[in-house]
Amino acid sequence: MHVTVLGAGTMGAGIAGLCARSGHETWLRDVDPEALDAARDRIAATYDDAVERGLLADAERHEALARVEATTDLEEAAADATLVVEAVPERLDLKREVAEEAAAAAPAAATLATNTSSLSVTAVAAALDRPERFVGLHFFNPPHAMQLVEVVRGERTADSTASFAVDFVEGLDRTPIVVDDTPGFATSRLGVALGAEAMRMVEQGVAAPADIDRAMELGYNHPVGPLELTDVVGLDVRLDVLEGLREELGERFRPPQVLRRKVRAGKLGKKTGEGFYIWEGDEPLGRDR
Ligand code: NAD
Repeated sequence: MHVTVLGAGTMGAGIAGLCARSGHETWLRDVDPEALDAARDRIAATYDDAVERGLLADAERHEALARVEATTDLEEAAADATLVVEAVPERLDLKREVAEEAAAAAPAAATLATNTSSLSVTAVAAALDRPERFVGLHFFNPPHAMQLVEVVRGERTADSTASFAVDFVEGLDRTPIVVDDTPGFATSRLGVALGAEAMRMVEQGVAAPADIDRAMELGYNHPVGPLELTDVVGLDVRLDVLEGLREELGERFRPPQVLRRKVRAGKLGKKTGEGFYIWEGDEPLGRDR
């Protein structure tokens, strides 16, 4: 299949690498040529790692890399596409614009998808002539390591488009779940609810962050506790998601004060060296595993 990925950042590079490894002719398009170079390097590094760990043969690595074409030219990237997956920054106006450009550049029969993690798929597709061919494909970071992909059905997504998306995800050796286009889909909504309650427990002095995380890790078999996960995702990102869900779903998603205070102070988690933990490189201090 010819797959076009729009946006060669964190997610676009990862999705393109996964598609090429699964045998798809993959075209990666970005407005920034440097992003394309960096994406190629990241895809190659991911393949190298898979070869080192015995998960990919060296010959397959070369074949997969040869299936990735990188360009700044949208027409060239999308002219023969069966599927276009958009992974540009999370802004509704930009995603709408990119969806319209993609619809014009791709064949009329192509399926168009957005990797949005929080916007309404229906709203992104609103201005399209053929919204029935538009669907959400929510990959997780990093796509080569994360098993889940949410297939998000917009109000006007056709059944055939959703089932095409499910088959595509299965063909990537990933596990799809089909969700309606509701705020936070299935994952963010539940994930931030848990994270926000853990923050309120910190505020109330129920237990130390490391013990709250340990409770979920050892008591519920979560691979990582909700506060450490918040530090990894970014406190600013979580605050934005909570604000969005509060607007749509009500006060139960009101962001905790401790989160607002930390974000105001620039304590955004791992990326700034402090959030609910102090970070030294990749490791939060005070967590004995
Ligand atoms: P990013 O900032 O790393 O990459 C975005 C890329 O899009 C940049 O390289 C930028 O140059 C490019 N771009 C901007 N305008 C463009 C255009 N008109 N056409 C083509 N490329 C354009 O962003 P990201 O973290 O990869 O996120 C992309 C999308 O994936 C967002 O919708 C985000 O919500 C979603 N998402 C992100 C994660 C994550 O953990 N980063 C996880 C799941 C979903």
